[in-house]
Amino acid sequence: MTYQRSSQLFAEAEAVIPGGVNSPVRAFKAVGGTPIFVKSAKGAYLYDEDGNRYIDYINSWGPMILGHAYEPVVTAVTERAKLGTSFGTPTALETQIAALAVSMVPNIDKIRFVNSGTEACMSAIRLARGYTKRDKIIKFSGCYHGHSDSFLIQAGSGAVTFGSPNSPGVTQGTAKDTLLASYNNLENVKTVIEANPNEIAAIIIEPVAGNMGCIPPQKDFLEGLRTLCTANGILLIFDEVMTGFRLAKGGAQELLKIDADIVCFGKVIGGGLPVGAFAARNEIMNLLAPLGPVYQAGTLSGNPLAMAAGLAMLEALNNDTAIFDRLAEKTAYLAKGINTVLKAAKIEFTINSVGSMISVHFDSNPVTDFKSAANGDNETFKKFFHGLLEEGVYIAPSAYETWFITDALTYEDLDFTIAAIEKVAQGL
Ligand code: PMP
Repeated sequence: MTYQRSSQLFAEAEAVIPGGVNSPVRAFKAVGGTPIFVKSAKGAYLYDEDGNRYIDYINSWGPMILGHAYEPVVTAVTERAKLGTSFGTPTALETQIAALAVSMVPNIDKIRFVNSGTEACMSAIRLARGYTKRDKIIKFSGCYHGHSDSFLIQAGSGAVTFGSPNSPGVTQGTAKDTLLASYNNLENVKTVIEANPNEIAAIIIEPVAGNMGCIPPQKDFLEGLRTLCTANGILLIFDEVMTGFRLAKGGAQELLKIDADIVCFGKVIGGGLPVGAFAARNEIMNLLAPLGPVYQAGTLSGNPLAMAAGLAMLEALNNDTAIFDRLAEKTAYLAKGINTVLKAAKIEFTINSVGSMISVHFDSNPVTDFKSAANGDNETFKKFFHGLLEEGVYIAPSAYETWFITDALTYEDLDFTIAAIEKVAQGL
């Protein structure tokens, strides 16, 4: 493959955009080389500016669960655009998508739409603080909840990929209110709570972690958190930006049968347009302005194009009773295939997966938290990434990311991917 046109476009971009990208993980900094510039995408495939085709396992970092340029979403957006792109007034469409989301997700009465996952998590924390009248929050090392100040403390995803899990620009004052705990370590959480009696407003967690690669919650961990939260007057916030409308219609809450107090959404809920949302029961949501004192707003929140895309996406997921089983079956098939070829090549690895989230860690020990995720062999990952790219398979350019399986992937695509991995594994 040649990447000539992408390289040229990247050089032009670097002159006017920091690092040539509008979000750090898009740059190939962690793996070396030049990011591919995508021209178009359809179904399971990306097409770059040099005319190369790739099977896509990033899928816009999660949203495209039904594949790229999914017809009902494209039609909904184009038709809607003809009616005007933003009014700054309520629209009937907002109520339609809100009602559908509330009907799909367990344990929520109301939902508010914002423009990104970051905004959703940031607003959820403010709401939790307003509700509990407490200041501190607990987050887990390696979890990523967007780039708002309170969360850039041992954050995962791009923050850890670039070695800055604690960012300059986050004040000491903000950082002191974010307490850290280890994923899958309930004792650790208990200790933190005991050391800060009546001070913790919320525990925020990715119920299935996806930003240190995929890490499933161990048995009883989330149940334990739920019990601890209830006993200590702490709100449990599930950041379902990745897992929402992906692991089940009702997200991780439904799949794992645990009720959170506030749930954050992003990615799939916007069908590929910039959308986030947060939701809870009435007693919590009614504290939001204009009903209550907790302020939160947005000029483009509930934007008609974004809502049209999101509604078309949620309707498609709601109407297809077999979709989540289908996705899980494809993921299991891929995991089995990768397992076979990497074993045969005598590579040290661990595959973690839940539903349609999967990741390959280059370490043979179980990967259960940030520390064990960080043990992965990054040099092997770099070769793996570039080898797959050359074979026409596009995975995230960082070992700390999850691959997303979409309904557009066929078993031929999965076989192609497994064969590519078999070939690449020879050179690892
Ligand atoms: N929470 C989680 C779990 C995420 O994965 C992400 C983004 N990858 C975010 C929050 C932030 O969302 P956004 O990038 O839309 O601000």
